[in-house]
Amino acid sequence: MNVTERIERLSIPEPNSGCWIWLGALDRGGYARISLKGKNRKASRVSYQQFVGELTPELDILHICDLPACVNPAHLRVGTAQDNIFDMWAKGRGRVPKGEAHSNSILTLPQATEIRSRVLSGENPRLVALDFDISRTTAARIASGKSWRQI
Ligand SMILES: [Zn+2]
Repeated sequence: MNVTERIERLSIPEPNSGCWIWLGALDRGGYARISLKGKNRKASRVSYQQFVGELTPELDILHICDLPACVNPAHLRVGTAQDNIFDMWAKGRGRVPKGEAHSNSILTLPQATEIRSRVLSGENPRLVALDFDISRTTAARIASGKSWRQI
């Protein structure tokens, strides 16, 4: 069975919304998960790649239907990880104090690269920030490209 067939078998169309509701595993956020070549991946992302096109790692899949368990490629749009971080802030899970001092100077480029990749891969910016003795805001700014844009 190829990946497209697996997605079709593991989801059921919802006639009103048009959502393809995932019948397979969900993560704690309610997002569909699929195991692919031994890796547990977001099924929405896999669906988009199968039916629409390739994604580069910095691009995230957002649901226009707001149903995390939906894998209908027509309900998925591409956003940058930065969009997601802004989304997170907008939803109040992050707070950005104004005028926070830039502390970039204490970081090296490899550290900033590591901070960005860890935050973008889903680690809590606060915990990443603790590891580097920087503020969570600084970690989030690095991850979103507001600081250390050259990475
Ligand atoms: Zn949907």
